[in-house]
Amino acid sequence: MTQELTKIPQATAKRLPLYYRFLKNLHSSGKQRVSSAELSEAVKVDSATIRRDFSYFGALGKKGYGYNVNYLLTFFRKTLDQDELTKVALIGVGNLGTAFLHYNFLKNNNTKIEMAFDIDDDKIGSSIGDVPIYNLNDLEEKLKEAGVNVAILTVPAPVAQSITDQLVVSNVKGILNFTPARLNVPSHIRVHHIDLAVELQSLVYFLKHYPTDETDL
Ligand code: ATP
Repeated sequence: MTQELTKIPQATAKRLPLYYRFLKNLHSSGKQRVSSAELSEAVKVDSATIRRDFSYFGALGKKGYGYNVNYLLTFFRKTLDQDELTKVALIGVGNLGTAFLHYNFLKNNNTKIEMAFDIDDDKIGSSIGDVPIYNLNDLEEKLKEAGVNVAILTVPAPVAQSITDQLVVSNVKGILNFTPARLNVPSHIRVHHIDLAVELQSLVYFLKHYPTDETDL
């Protein structure tokens, strides 16, 4: 994380990758400026929020002109550390883990799953795409050797905490947790939790109980 990011609100920081992806597309289609209304329509964030977010980046749109796409893109690339490749490890090569190994994260951002881990002898020693699958016993050694400090967790929930403890001693600083387990970590570790079943259930609940024009999430 860069200095600038520590000063902006977390809700704004969370929207940065979204803005970045859209601006990259605009840039490759040759567009040089964009209005907050256009951005708003494309990323589905209201334009007042966009203007407030962008003011934190020192990007002040001019009336009748909008924002300079190149300026914003350079800013986002630097702020999101896009010039540097972030190496990621994946733990648990089941159905979900396998899908992630096939997914090309590099297409949209500068992160790459560098290695995967499992305990299943049939999987250990093989690879999916160009990602090698190692024995979980070698976790600490491999992560430290390659300087990996971000991990994706796609193991069964009952083992999630013990693997998390191993990730912590392996110098991992960020965990994207796809298991339903709530993880305990020291305060210097950041966990983002994505429970697909809960998200789906919440969507279905909202569809049933709130008319769509009131569902402003
Ligand atoms: P998914 O949950 O992704 O649909 P699945 O149903 O195929 O996967 P799970 O039982 O959820 O399988 O296990 C996911 C993967 O995690 C499997 O490849 C399994 O071998 C692996 N796994 C199980 N326990 C551990 C562990 N302690 N450490 C690392 N990997 C593990």
